[in-house]
Amino acid sequence: MSTFPTQARVVIVGGGIMGCSTAYHLAKLGWKDVVLLEQGRLSGGTTWHAAGLVGQLRSYQNLTRLIRYSTELYSKLETETGLATGWKQCGSLSVARTEQRMVLLRRSAAMANAQGVDCEPLTPRQAGEKYPIMRTDDLVGAVWLPGDGKANPADITQALAKGARNAGVRIFEKTRVTSIDTRDGRVTGVQTSQGPITAEIVVNCGGQWARQLARSVGVTVPLYSCEHMYIVTEKMEGVPRDLPVMRDPDGYIYFKEEVGGLLMGGFEPEAKPWDKDVIPDDFEFGILPDDWDQFQILMDNALIRVPALEKTGIKTFMNGPESFTPDLNYVLGEAPQLKNFFVGAGFNSMGIASSGGAGMALAEWIVAGEPTLDLWPVDIRRFAGFHGNDTWLRTRVAETLGLHYKMPWPQREQESGRPFRRSPLYDRLKARGAWFGNKMGWERPNWFAGAGKTPDMQYGWGRGAWFDAVGAEHRATRESVTVVDETSFGKILVQGRDAEAALQRLAANDVAVPVGRTVYTGILNERGTFESDLTIARLARDRFLVITGSAQPMRDMDWFTRHVPEDLFVTFADVTSAWTVLSLMGPQSRALLQKVSRADFSNEGFPFATCREIGVGYATVLASRRTYMGELGWELYVPVEFAVTVFETLHEAGAEFGLRDAGYYAVEGLRLEKGYRAWGRELTPDDTPFNAGLAWAVKLDKPGGFIGQNALIKAKAVPLARRLVSVVLQDGEPLLWGGEALLRDGRPVGDLTSAGYGHTIGTSVGLGYVKRGDGAAIDAAWLEGGRFEVDLAGTRLAAKVSLRCPFDPAGARIKG
Ligand SMILES: Cc1cc2nc3c(=O)[nH]c(=O)nc-3n(C[C@H](O)[C@H](O)[C@H](O)COP(=O)(O)OP(=O)(O)OC[C@H]3O[C@@H](n4cnc5c(N)ncnc54)[C@H](O)[C@@H]3O)c2cc1C
Repeated sequence: MSTFPTQARVVIVGGGIMGCSTAYHLAKLGWKDVVLLEQGRLSGGTTWHAAGLVGQLRSYQNLTRLIRYSTELYSKLETETGLATGWKQCGSLSVARTEQRMVLLRRSAAMANAQGVDCEPLTPRQAGEKYPIMRTDDLVGAVWLPGDGKANPADITQALAKGARNAGVRIFEKTRVTSIDTRDGRVTGVQTSQGPITAEIVVNCGGQWARQLARSVGVTVPLYSCEHMYIVTEKMEGVPRDLPVMRDPDGYIYFKEEVGGLLMGGFEPEAKPWDKDVIPDDFEFGILPDDWDQFQILMDNALIRVPALEKTGIKTFMNGPESFTPDLNYVLGEAPQLKNFFVGAGFNSMGIASSGGAGMALAEWIVAGEPTLDLWPVDIRRFAGFHGNDTWLRTRVAETLGLHYKMPWPQREQESGRPFRRSPLYDRLKARGAWFGNKMGWERPNWFAGAGKTPDMQYGWGRGAWFDAVGAEHRATRESVTVVDETSFGKILVQGRDAEAALQRLAANDVAVPVGRTVYTGILNERGTFESDLTIARLARDRFLVITGSAQPMRDMDWFTRHVPEDLFVTFADVTSAWTVLSLMGPQSRALLQKVSRADFSNEGFPFATCREIGVGYATVLASRRTYMGELGWELYVPVEFAVTVFETLHEAGAEFGLRDAGYYAVEGLRLEKGYRAWGRELTPDDTPFNAGLAWAVKLDKPGGFIGQNALIKAKAVPLARRLVSVVLQDGEPLLWGGEALLRDGRPVGDLTSAGYGHTIGTSVGLGYVKRGDGAAIDAAWLEGGRFEVDLAGTRLAAKVSLRCPFDPAGARIKG
């Protein structure tokens, strides 16, 4: 044992699989001065009792990529370190009891294959051949993933630790981090049970303890533990050592071979939170009491799937706490509230499968100072401080655990802990029959059933009652006028003598515009890829309002404050909650506004891309002429106390213009017809404005430059072998949801980042990136020269693919 250090470049807190993986990868990246501290013994937190399933398929491509990396790492770790890992590539089966589930499995198979993950649909008989002790007469089908496997979590952790030690990392067990030292908004070290260590970087891989440790320095890591259970049976006939893993999500259960018997566990629809706001420090190799009542639903289903269990003894009942997050994705990255404080925690019972890749991604993030690929689904900045409320979290995680196997319907919304954040108009929208979705905690209207009606929202792959209602909202936007409550938009006030200079550095477009102008721009990193996209309104010489997506305020605030040169005099304030936003869109929007306001809404009096204060009835609001729906329209930024007045004023005057309420489903179809991009889907840190077709919003020769400029100058010289295209189905009947694979002449070339129904063009429409294998530029000729199809759950549908959007009204319609 080496002597206890007093300083290190990096201190990692936590010797579970994630801490050890992060240490291993930092060392492999050449960072030697790394210390890992574990309060108990390595793997003694949650890792030791995991079931050890490693399944590759995730709903986000980059998360699938990271798990594929885990499988590659685990398969070679034994050779590298000489320590057994228990890794076995036994393959996995997922079975479907219903036709709807089988559609999901076929969709997953199409996507997996497009990403290079082998995945094959099977008939029930074929599935039975791979898993003879399973009952198959009630199945519709299955999919087979030969690359999936299982591992021994404690052994993998030890092997990662050994690999890390071999590369220079120092690991200290029985050493508790008692507090974190900070100064001027950044970490400076840790206090431990063995003495202080000064450090440049601290990484919190504290598992279910990560929340309380982070909270002590003002950082939100929203996770809460649930009891999570499995059983292990005595040896069983027909269970060879290489039996595949089997998942039966309709029965909430999974099976894995364990010493000649079966390990069976699952994800029950209503989980049991472990009622501990503070996890005890000494909960090492701890387990919780058996709870057969909670386990009953899993046991009942297991007996259906594997009837031989009826006559098999149970050797072990394992109940251990595991941390879950509000959205079933883990929490990764540098905390927005504290510089050089990184987090890798909240693994939602996927920590064994995920940690190989997640540890690598976190190490790369630490070394590069920013994520090296799009990790937005797991990025810590997707959460705000309010997500850390214990009462809310405890309620939410009881639902989260079950999401693993609950049908992930395309329009599914989480139900627990709602309503959470409400616009002042919530009750009025509800009275008008709104069906609410949820984003960044906000209740947002998705569609309207009509006044006094209860929306009949049935989830499915096809058209429900919502379809016609959305169609009517969509058409009203194109033909008359609609109003959408978009209060959830993020709003950041940028003020100060150097506000313009700061934004010029941050934005790719030119924001040195006259007062009263608005500018759409990308916010790019040094690689020239997107960190955000937003609109900046100049309110005064030294004051700008940044309008950003609902999910982005934390991320944008973090990016802005980190990347503004220190010598500039500028402040950033998140003012999201101060303003309600009402978007009034459609050809009659001008006439309606003219009726309720004394301002001039003519094209000359209120040109496109301008904003100004106006009166609406008795209220004074900021009106901004722009559109995300491809129609003439204004966004009204209304101080919250005037929201109800303005809403009522618009509706009272609106009847004669055909005003309707509209929701986010209509917005989605409208923006896709017009080819408008969305952050997190078309615009991510994996793509430049050139890939995304947004070169027009980049001012490459801006005096003084901007972040990402050099990378874009280089990128300009390279052929665009990956480009964003609009995709339109030739058959107007089927619905696309996004995530579908796109084929050219029968070969996968990309996938749909978004899809919806274009009620104006009468068919499904999407956006997606296509990639050209030979590296040459994608142009109209290449697109027109190929036969494009969308793989919809195994059925190939002819599609028209174009660099142009399918609905492109004359500029006069929007700007005239
Ligand atoms: C019943 C069950 C079955 C599971 N099955 C699977 C599965 O099949 N596949 C899968 O992928 N995942 C599975 N999981 C989930 C998996 O076990 C976890 O996601 C994973 O182990 C989390 O690893 P971690 O390193 O984040 O946390 P941990 O293993 O808990 O490690 C965190 C460590 O930090 C230490 N620590 C905390 N605070 C401090 C401090 N202040 N100072 C020093 N040390 C500190 C703790 O002692 C702990 O050892 C399962 C979990 C359970 C409960």
